[in-house]
Amino acid sequence: MQKALATIWVFGDQLNRKIGALATAKPETHRILIVESAGKIASRPWHIQRAHFLITSMRRFAIEMQQAGFEVDYRRATTMRAGVEAHIAEFAPTHIYVSEPNSYTARQLVAALGVQVVKSNQFLCHPEDFAAFVAGKKSLKLEDFYRWQRKRFGYLMDSKNGDEPVGGKFNFDDENREPPPKTGHDRWPTPKLHALDEVDQQVLADLPKNLWGKKPDGLWATTRKDALARLKYFVDEILPTFGEHEDAMLESNWHLAHSLLSPYLNNGLLLPKEVLDAAADAFAKGRVPINSAEGFIRQILGWREYIFNCYWRWMPEYAQLNKLNAHRPLAPLFTDPKKTKMKCVSTVLNGINDRAYSHHIERLMVLGNFALISGTDPQQFTNWMWNSYIDAHEWVMVPNVLGMSLYADGGQLATKPYASGGAYIDRMSNHCDGCAYDRKKRTGDDACPFTNLYWDFHMRHEKTFVKNPRIARQVRAAQKLSDIADVQKTAKQILERLDRGLV
Ligand code: SF4
Repeated sequence: MQKALATIWVFGDQLNRKIGALATAKPETHRILIVESAGKIASRPWHIQRAHFLITSMRRFAIEMQQAGFEVDYRRATTMRAGVEAHIAEFAPTHIYVSEPNSYTARQLVAALGVQVVKSNQFLCHPEDFAAFVAGKKSLKLEDFYRWQRKRFGYLMDSKNGDEPVGGKFNFDDENREPPPKTGHDRWPTPKLHALDEVDQQVLADLPKNLWGKKPDGLWATTRKDALARLKYFVDEILPTFGEHEDAMLESNWHLAHSLLSPYLNNGLLLPKEVLDAAADAFAKGRVPINSAEGFIRQILGWREYIFNCYWRWMPEYAQLNKLNAHRPLAPLFTDPKKTKMKCVSTVLNGINDRAYSHHIERLMVLGNFALISGTDPQQFTNWMWNSYIDAHEWVMVPNVLGMSLYADGGQLATKPYASGGAYIDRMSNHCDGCAYDRKKRTGDDACPFTNLYWDFHMRHEKTFVKNPRIARQVRAAQKLSDIADVQKTAKQILERLDRGLV
């Protein structure tokens, strides 16, 4: 007969002893349940590194909890629900507790199963705190939220005068938008790889055979211990140079000074407070300049927490929005980078194939921008991004891709669409050198698709955007182009070729 214990059900993105229900659990009174759902794994064409990372992290977390003295029911089941029901049938737990899940679907499942939900502390700003922040405000602004977070948690605040930011301002973005340096592209150390072991190999053997992308090579950590080592390495070796070229893109260096910590924050191996504390401590000790410390802390304390809370504020309707009526099916190039000659796009896509990763500007200003100006269906593109990235989860992909990148929410998240032509990519990268297209041309056979579609996009949506003070000027500029008829003709040809995988 099984011992009568309460169960703590842990989802695959809550892998931390300090999160919610697990924080107060004890081996004498609690058993841990982790369900690996075959249905979930088979539900989408995941990148193999993403599937491997999430499942290996779950299996290793189960081992870690066993070593901490817990009895762990690591259950491989057809669905989450089937796994929980089988657990109940076998162990008859006195209670089942779960920390608030991070996805809308998981919360529906938890509610349907009648499980007791414990408030989560996985994010520093819980939706209840966010509701207090929002109360009485006519509009939501990330910058206001970020400053509110800085003040209430005291990160980079002047200790003598707690309301004043260190360095005299909250935002050092103007120092963090430098294009790539002309030389010294190897100045940022290459991330180290670890050897795969038998747990990795078993997960790979268990995965469905239809996944895509390069097989895991040890780039991504799958234990808390290794994730903490990655955090230390980033803070000691990389963070001092994080800020300046934060938005730059290089063909020869995919990582630059990016932290590569988002996968661990998003599956629970790391917690935001310990990441922020490490960065703030390095700044306080004089090892990191203010622009790098502020730029990094903004990403975690500001943007990441804001996106999470917008998701919870606007779901479930938000995920279905398509305010620009964009209905172009996902272009063939997204599943086969050989189907494009655009060097910027193929470089980013090849990087995703190799690592299930690209940095934030490559996501927003190359892939997202291209999906936006080509009128790609927001749900199809969001799903593709979700399938492809190592750090993707619904709460981050839906607002970031559908809202921020594709403006499918009509401006709820971003006050203007992030559309740009080839000039931005040329300034912030070295991709345009040697590309089959000419980034300065908007008409003709070698017109840069970004430059052409940028103008065409503003004309396609002129009635909507001419009323938006942040981009009305660009709409009027498009209307005044002497060759706008040719631009629109070329755009039709580009979009037709795009659908056939020939751009
Ligand atoms: Fe991309 Fe256009 Fe530059 Fe080619 S010319 S790399 S398509 S922005």
